[in-house]
Formats: sequence, structure tokens, C-alpha cells
Amino acid sequence: MNFTRWSIYKLTSLANRISKQRQVRSGLRDLKLWGLEINESGHVAVDGLDAIDLIRRFGSPLFVVNIKKLKEDATNIVTALRTQASADSKVFYSYKTNCIPGILKELHAMGIGAEVISPYELWLAETLGVPGERIIYNGVNKTEESIERAARINVFAINIDHVEEIDRIYSVARRLNKKIRLGIRLGFILNSQFGMGVDTEEALAACQKIISLSDYLDLVCIHFNVTSNARSASLHKKCALRAIEFMADVKIKTGLSIKYLDIGGGFGVPTSKNMSSTEYGLYRMAGILPKPPDPRDFQTIDRMLEEIISTIRTHCNMRNIEMPNILIEPGRFITSRAEFLLATVLTVKKKENGIYFAITDAGRLSVTFPTDFEYHEVFVANRPTAPLTTSYQIMGRICTSADWMFKNRLLPELILGDFLAVMDAGAYFSSYSTNFSFPRPTIVRVDGGRAEVIRNGETFDYLISMDRI
Ligand SMILES: *Cc1c(COP(=O)(O)O)cnc(C)c1O
Repeated sequence: MNFTRWSIYKLTSLANRISKQRQVRSGLRDLKLWGLEINESGHVAVDGLDAIDLIRRFGSPLFVVNIKKLKEDATNIVTALRTQASADSKVFYSYKTNCIPGILKELHAMGIGAEVISPYELWLAETLGVPGERIIYNGVNKTEESIERAARINVFAINIDHVEEIDRIYSVARRLNKKIRLGIRLGFILNSQFGMGVDTEEALAACQKIISLSDYLDLVCIHFNVTSNARSASLHKKCALRAIEFMADVKIKTGLSIKYLDIGGGFGVPTSKNMSSTEYGLYRMAGILPKPPDPRDFQTIDRMLEEIISTIRTHCNMRNIEMPNILIEPGRFITSRAEFLLATVLTVKKKENGIYFAITDAGRLSVTFPTDFEYHEVFVANRPTAPLTTSYQIMGRICTSADWMFKNRLLPELILGDFLAVMDAGAYFSSYSTNFSFPRPTIVRVDGGRAEVIRNGETFDYLISMDRI
């Protein structure tokens, strides 16, 4: 063995060892965290339905939405906001997090609104019958046509991302002879492209411009969205403080009291976590799996909203401005835990260097993109409590070595025909899915012990349905 090969071998086994220790200590091995059960056959089950039976009925890979858990998590955040903030505070679900009509309809039936970031999502909200006043229109690419749609249905607010949008919206409003409610997105995160600068006075200039066009524009909202999967309130609090400073400044300089503060989404779930840059680098380069999240490190949603909103209240008092109504745009918090992905183990290979590859019908370049940069728990669906013995490179089915789902995952010894259940598939999995060489999977919902398809798996004909041949 030459030196290079020897060092790679050493590094690989070190990565394997560290990853293994971390998983052995994982506090995430309890299916109840996702509202799931183990049935008398020893399989993963959802609301009394056996996951393996679901695969037999609907095929693999398969997304399964657990409606009971969805309602539970949605109710939790709605109640937490209602407890902390004024009656005029509102929840808008972030469509891009999981844009499946069968899920969205469920949330709208509970009175949750729609946070949309594209003309398509706006169209979808309208098509699903969401009243205008329950829609917030965000995003960086609002077409003139979609602005017109938004104005016609009287959306709650259009949050502008950059100053050029003001003239565009103003001209639509004039043409329709309709006043449009606007918000301003503040850009607190310097290495992200969104929003307008506070320190550069870009945001203040935008406010002044909107106010000068108040015959057709009504500035009602200050908006920020700064993180995803936050474990604690700290970043939201920091940004809310700066937003309050900004609102106080606007009031002094223009006399305007802004009625709503939209603190975006980003509220985390304790069962999954985003990798830090270092964790991501080590995972990508060396296959060192990050530490699993410890559910005890996460604040509950009640606690988080309580901290954020009480901070806002204190600072409004200090700055002598009226307490705004609070808007939130959760995505992940509502849907992440309420959906899991079932995949089939197609084969297991042991390489000469001792590394095991398990090939499955789902990988990060096809259906599990978030496993690229987030920690996700995984169970063998047909024996979730079997002892963890062997480390696997879990691969997808696309013909590239880049289509892995997990590196160095510690699982019971896998055999052909085992099934994997990947947790927290309810945030950003279907949104990021591709149909690279294989059609996208079926999505079923389970409610009251019944399973029902809410999106058909794509067919071959569907894949070429837009082609002219
Ligand atoms: C993505 C997004 C959200 C939701 O983020 P989560 O981390 O899923 O809660 C909310 N608001 C805006 C503007 C977004 O882009």
C-alpha cells in the first residue's frame, strides 16, 4: 500500500469511527418524536397503517404524510402565536417548503394563510381558494402579471425585496385604480441576496418612496426572514430588535406607524438540524457525519415565540412606538415531522476496502436533497429497533457517485428488500425532487387509519408531456 492509499484508508476508517460513535449516542431513535409507532409485526407504522403495506400498495419510493402529526404541529404554532401576540397576528405557511395541494388544503382548512414566493405559488394559493387577505407575496421575481393578480385579489401584503419593485407595483396599482398594501423586506444577513440594507439607508429610502406614492401604495409591514431550522430565539430576537429600531426611525422621519412586523419563518424542529459550514465540509470531504441534534437543545415553539414577542414588546415600549401585530411564515416547523420517505434497498455491496454500499431507489440528487446539508434520522422500516451494527454509504439510483443519501450511516445489517424510512421529509424534499432518469414518487396521506394518494407518481408519458415530438 503506498502512502496516499494508506492515508486515505486511515482517514476513511477514522471518519467511520467518529460517525459511528455519534450515531450510537443519538437521542433520536424514538419513532414517537414523529408521531409514528411500531406495530405488532415490528414494522414502522403510521396511524395504525404498516409502512411496508403502504409500499406494497403504492410502490417505492413513497412519501407518506401523517395528517395527525401535521395538525398537531400546525395547531401548536398557531396556538403559540395566538397566546403571545395580538388577535390580529397571523400565520402564513411557506409554500415553497412543501408545495403539495393535498397538504396545503389541510393547513388552509385550519385558517392558516399562504406565504408565496413566485407567480406559480400565488396562482396556486388563489386556485386553492385561499382568500387574498390570507396571502403574503414575497420573493425576488414578481412578474407584472402576478402583481396584477395579487392586487385584484387584495393580498394581505406584497413584501418588496428591492427598490425597483416599487415603481412596477405603483404602475399596476394606478392602472387598476387600486391601493396596494406593501411591506419592506430588511436584509440583515450580509452574505445573502435578500432584502434592503438598514445601515445603508436603502430601506429607509424605499419607505420614503412608498410614502410619497401613498395615493396608491400603503406601507403596512416590515419583513425579515433570516434563518432556517433555528434551535433558539436568539437570531430572530436580534433581528426583531433591529427591525424595531428601524420602525422607530421611520416613525421619527416620516411620522408613519407601521402596523405589522413579519418575522418570517425559520423555526426549527428538534429532530433534524442544518450542518454548520465546518460540519458540512468534513461530511463532504471525509464522510464524517455531524452529531445528531439533541432534542433537548431546542426551545419549544411556545418558548421561542414568547421570547421573540416579549423582546419586541419591551423595545417598542422603550422606543415609544406602538406594538405591531406579528406575522409569521413558518415552513419547516409545520410540515417537517409530518412526512417521511420510504425507500427500498436494492442491493448491498462490500468493496475490497471494507466499505459497504447500500443502493436504494432514493438519493440526494433525486428525492432526498436536504440530506446533503441537514442531519436526518433513518430507520429500517421493517425492523426499526434492530441493533445498529454496520456503517453504510447509502446511495441513490442515478448513475453518478454523487447521488448518495447518507455517508457512514450506522444501521442494522441490510439485505436486499429491506426498506428505509427517512424522517423529516416534510420540509423541502418534494420541493427539491427531480425526475433525473426516474419519475418523481407518489405521495400518500394517512388520516384516521386510511391512506389516500394526494399526488400520483409521475408516469413516463408525463415526463415527455411538454415535449413536441
Ligand atoms: C423559505 C421561507 C420561509 C420558511 O422557512 P422555514 O425555514 O421553512 O420555516 C419563510 N419566509 C420566506 C420569505 C422564505 O423564503
